[in-house]
Amino acid sequence: MEPKRNSWPFAPLAQADGASGRLTIDLGALARNYAALAARAAPALTAAVVKANAYGLGAEHVARTLLAAGCRHFFVAQAEEALALRPVLPPAAQVIVLNGLQPGCELAYAGAGIVPVLNSLEQLQRWQTAAQMLGRRLPALLQFDTGMSRLGVSPQDRPAFLRLLHSAALVEPLFVMSHLASADEPDSPQNLAQLAEMQAVQRDLPGVPLCFANSGGVLMGGDFRGSLVRPGLALYGGAPQMSEANPMEPVVTLEVAVIQTRTVPAGTRVGYGGTHVTHGVTHLATLAAGYADGLPRCLGGRGAVYCDGVRLPMVGRVSMDSLTVDISALPEGRLGLGDAVEVIGPHQSLEDLARDADTIAYEILTRLGTRYQRRYLPSLSLSARLS
Ligand SMILES: *Cc1c(COP(=O)(O)O)cnc(C)c1O
Repeated sequence: MEPKRNSWPFAPLAQADGASGRLTIDLGALARNYAALAARAAPALTAAVVKANAYGLGAEHVARTLLAAGCRHFFVAQAEEALALRPVLPPAAQVIVLNGLQPGCELAYAGAGIVPVLNSLEQLQRWQTAAQMLGRRLPALLQFDTGMSRLGVSPQDRPAFLRLLHSAALVEPLFVMSHLASADEPDSPQNLAQLAEMQAVQRDLPGVPLCFANSGGVLMGGDFRGSLVRPGLALYGGAPQMSEANPMEPVVTLEVAVIQTRTVPAGTRVGYGGTHVTHGVTHLATLAAGYADGLPRCLGGRGAVYCDGVRLPMVGRVSMDSLTVDISALPEGRLGLGDAVEVIGPHQSLEDLARDADTIAYEILTRLGTRYQRRYLPSLSLSARLS
């Protein structure tokens, strides 16, 4: 997989056409990212993590696209997400709930054909009880904590869990799983320590296939792949590993509209608190997105947007619904009311924006606002199948 940072699939919008901002989600790029990860993971199968509304991009659009691309395992975090996604997918596709089996969900899951990740002895017990009530086998993934201390059966509970599992004949283990804490740092010794722990678990469960790698883990390859990998971020164009060039195709473009421009003299204060004071005559543009649209407040004075490839720094504080950029570097009159500037696109990646906001691409993606106009570019493989 070669870095593909500059292969933007379409021209950015010049005009916002009345929208405050436009979020473009390239389903073709999503499908190609899936294919690239699946090729990398083979012979392991490749699942998709579509929790949190597919990292903010729209679980239904994403799931349908990935189904057409060959994906048959879809991971969500919560029961609500699973119940919403289940009717979108055919029975042959599995919907799996990472956060486990909450009390009271057993019959709803069994009835809808949702597969829980069992994270404790108690969850295994309740799933077995539900299976007995229904008089049929119920599938599950079994998660073990291998060093993250977040979810899964803890090492001290393992013997009791395995004993119960051997008597819980109606629970059908599809995969054993665990989650890597440091897969974005392939050189971290924690990765090999977790792998060794995972292999110890597998020795106690011969014949049950392994589901282990997230995005970073897929690229680490080898034993991390197991039988089913479950990337999330990399599907959506995020960089799976911090130290490497990003091999994934960008999926998301965000453009935001200019809602006012002005020219101010030296010594003018900008924004709440008057924290920014202009040095000389300055051309400013106010943009129609703020922290309520997922642009973190801490970007004020640090982040930027782009126009014609020119960096336009954010000046003063980010407001709820707007922010102000210094456009003095552009030819006068280049930007006016209704023009669009690039927030995420060919000149500024998700990772660039995340770095300026002191966070990670995951948080930028999952917080992208609901007020943007959303445009889905169709995946050709999907449209070919539908026509
Ligand atoms: C979110 C999540 C993933 C996907 O991780 P990415 O880093 O986005 O690839 C995989 N497994 C579990 C358990 C998760 O919580």
